Amino acid sequence: MLLSLARIKPRFLKRAQNQLLKRETMQIKVQAMGDYQTNCYIVTIDGKDFIIDPGVGATPWVEQNVKNPVAIFNTHGHFDHVWSNDELQKKLNIPLYTPKDDVMMLQDSSWMPSLPPSTPDVEVKPDEEFDFDGVKVKFHHFPGHSGGTSMIEIGDVMFSGDFIFERSIGRTDFPYSSPKDMKASLLKFKKFDFDKTLYPGHGGTTTIKQEQAYSDYWIQNL
Ligand SMILES: [Zn+2]
Repeated sequence: MLLSLARIKPRFLKRAQNQLLKRETMQIKVQAMGDYQTNCYIVTIDGKDFIIDPGVGATPWVEQNVKNPVAIFNTHGHFDHVWSNDELQKKLNIPLYTPKDDVMMLQDSSWMPSLPPSTPDVEVKPDEEFDFDGVKVKFHHFPGHSGGTSMIEIGDVMFSGDFIFERSIGRTDFPYSSPKDMKASLLKFKKFDFDKTLYPGHGGTTTIKQEQAYSDYWIQNL
């Protein structure tokens, strides 16, 4: 009994240290961009920089804050989240990942005809997962606000775009929105049996558990 305990213990220790190391190496920078104050995030993990939702005027800030840019991710296709896609793809020479059902919005915005068009290198399928040399990135599909809207999970956190905000949810009265899909997405969100910090597309951070407490209210009022 004692012997087996002694053998197990170092393994636990090692795992705990690894987890600590991982947390220490993950860094998130945020800057609100443009009239809609859309959060652009830079996530640095294991020495790799990932850019999420580069909105209006994001390029200089991103350029100043990345060392080893690896990829650009869009949570969805609305102009205030994708405005600087093309500029950054070209300047940083890295691929763009966009949920497949929102790709058409990148070419042409009915709200903002001056949107610089962009083309993703990867059209992300619902709930698709990627591995960037050991860094796992999963796009959880939550349509409703738009057809492709996804929450992007990286390590211990999720970038919730315009699906979930602190004490609120994304609007469903836009072209390509669907209150019916939003309802189904909230039911799916309610089923998450783990907690993580959420970094929304606008405003401050929250957590899965905190926002699950309001899911039924939104489902009933959609
Ligand atoms: Zn949006």
